[in-house]
Amino acid sequence: MDNIKTDEEIEIMRENALLVSRTLAEVAKYVTPGVSTLELDKVAEQFIRDHGAVPGFLGYNGFPNTLCISLNSVVVHGIPSAYRLQEGDIVSVDCGTKMKGFYGDSAYTFAVGRIAPAAEMLLKATKESLFKGIAQATAGNRMGDISNAIQGHVEKFGYSVVREMVGHTIGRKMHERPEVPNYGRRGQGPKLYSGMVICIEPMINMGKKEIYQERDGWTIRTKDGSLSAHYELTVAVGQTKADVLSTFEFVEEVLNNKN
Ligand code: MG
Ligand code: MG
Repeated sequence: MDNIKTDEEIEIMRENALLVSRTLAEVAKYVTPGVSTLELDKVAEQFIRDHGAVPGFLGYNGFPNTLCISLNSVVVHGIPSAYRLQEGDIVSVDCGTKMKGFYGDSAYTFAVGRIAPAAEMLLKATKESLFKGIAQATAGNRMGDISNAIQGHVEKFGYSVVREMVGHTIGRKMHERPEVPNYGRRGQGPKLYSGMVICIEPMINMGKKEIYQERDGWTIRTKDGSLSAHYELTVAVGQTKADVLSTFEFVEEVLNNKN
């Protein structure tokens, strides 16, 4: 009922989570003006297959690629294309893997070259909100404590939280229950137990919260055309502290070496 994983299962999930983290770091090397989003997708697919896993999103509900690549006002689920990244774009790269019967899932929003200071602030606040959420992922808390920590942080900046798309529990399926909303009230929602493995993934709009889906059946965009950012990590709920299974360390190492 509460979807608790065994220690052995969590270790397999950690392998997946670390592979996703390393895949995002591989992609990070190529995030630069002029690269097409389809080229980034190929880099990720090759890297995942070279490491004995399969892309988790490819074919998932019919999704055509390895990565969801979401540019600027695209919130999530963007389809890789011939579009070439331009200086000033922000691009969310969401990646999944499947290995040994379990899934991994993580996302990072990159700045392409120099971006506007306002966009920079959005990325920073969204990433911070993810870690505020993670800090609440302990046994005895409620899902709403995670949700509220995320929402409270980003709304301070005047940003808004997407309602229709939420984080999720993960395991043998990519999306398991319970859900992990990025908005909510403290003390509300399902109780958290040690061994629940959840993907916390704030999707934060610079403008209003409303979104729509494009006619391709996938791409989710902000209604007002404002920028949207997205970061995701997988964490196992812990007794006193969350066990963060995936990491941005590898990505940020690559980014720091670029600068
Ligand atoms: Mg994801
Ligand atoms: Mg996810």
